[in-house]
Amino acid sequence: MKRLSNDNTFSSPGDYGSPPAYTASLQWIDISVPLRDAMVHWPGDPPVNIKRVRDMERGDSVNLSMVSMGAHSGTHIDAPLHFIQQAKGIDEMPLDITIGRARVIEIEDPESIKPEELLRHRIRRGERILFKTKNSPRAWQTNEFVEDFVFISDEAARFLAQRGLRVVGVDYLSVGGFGEGSYVHKTLLSSGVWIIEGLDLSLVSAGRYDLICLPLKFDRGDGAPARAILRPIRASGARRINMPTEAHSGKGATSSISAPAVVLKEPAAVPAPYASGRWFKLTTIRPAESRVTASLYSCLLSFLATMAPTGHTSAQSPQPSHLVSTRRSPPKAPMTVRSPRKA
Ligand SMILES: [Zn+2]
Repeated sequence: MKRLSNDNTFSSPGDYGSPPAYTASLQWIDISVPLRDAMVHWPGDPPVNIKRVRDMERGDSVNLSMVSMGAHSGTHIDAPLHFIQQAKGIDEMPLDITIGRARVIEIEDPESIKPEELLRHRIRRGERILFKTKNSPRAWQTNEFVEDFVFISDEAARFLAQRGLRVVGVDYLSVGGFGEGSYVHKTLLSSGVWIIEGLDLSLVSAGRYDLICLPLKFDRGDGAPARAILRPIRASGARRINMPTEAHSGKGATSSISAPAVVLKEPAAVPAPYASGRWFKLTTIRPAESRVTASLYSCLLSFLATMAPTGHTSAQSPQPSHLVSTRRSPPKAPMTVRSPRKA
C-alpha cells in the first residue's frame, strides 16, 4: 500500500494517482477503521455483530442492518465517564475537542510511547495529538487481537496530562497497554484530555493537519464509535499572503490566502517613487500552508489587475513592505512583485 506524505501528493484510499502538489491541501484522508461483522475487538468487550435483517437480494423492499457491538469498537472516542463516575459523557464533549488543527507524531519506539521520545516534539498546551506507531501498518492487518501493541506508558500519560492536551489519539484499541491500561486512561481523562482510540494512520505521515472526528451522540455514553478524517495543511513551496480586502486603499482588515511562492519577492521597503504608481500592498509574507490552488491564485491576481487603482501616494501607503504591480503596459511577466530600489 502506497504511503501518502503530507508534503507531496494525496489521494483517497484506492486512488493513488499523482494530482498536482497544490491540490494536496484540498483532500481529506479517512483515518477510521471500517466497522464490519466479527472484526477485532478488545478481549472481553461485546463483539461486533452487523447483520442484514432485510435484504433486497432476498426480495425485501429495502436493505436494513442490525448492529450490536461494544461502544468502544473500531475507531471511537472515550468519554471521561468511561473511567470516572459522574464525569462527562460522550454527548457532553465540546465539539472543538476533535475539530481543528492536529498533529500526527510518528513514534519510533516499538514497545511504548515514552516521555524521552515525546520531549523531541515540543508538545504544547491545547494541542490535538495523534500518535502513529508501529500499530498502524501491522495491527489492523489481522482480525486477531494483537496483545503487544504500542501503547502510552504511565510516565508518558503523566507527561501528556501536564501538557494539557485537548485530545490524544492512538492507532490501536487502547491508550494503555494490554492488561495495564487503567492508569493511563484515568490519568488522561481526569486531566481533561479526551481520547481517540482505534485510528488507522497508515496512510498519513507525521505533520500538521486539520482534524474532524465526531462520536455518535449517546446520551450519557461512556464512549462511541467515530469517523475520523485528516486534511494536510501544508503543501510544499507555499507561502501565506495577508492581503488587504480593500486593495485600493491598502487599509482595513486583511485576509489570508496562500499560494505558490513563485510570484512573490520580499522587499524590505519601497521608496516613495514606487508608492505613486499602481500598487497593491501585501503586508506580510511568511511561510505557511497552502489553501488555494495556483489557478485560483492567478485568477485572483488577474482580478486585481482589472481594478487598476489610481492616486496612491506615499502618504497613503507609508512604507509598504510588499507591493504587487498592476500595470499592464509595458507587459512583463504577469503580475510581478518588484524589489525595492533606491530612487
Ligand atoms: Zn475506549
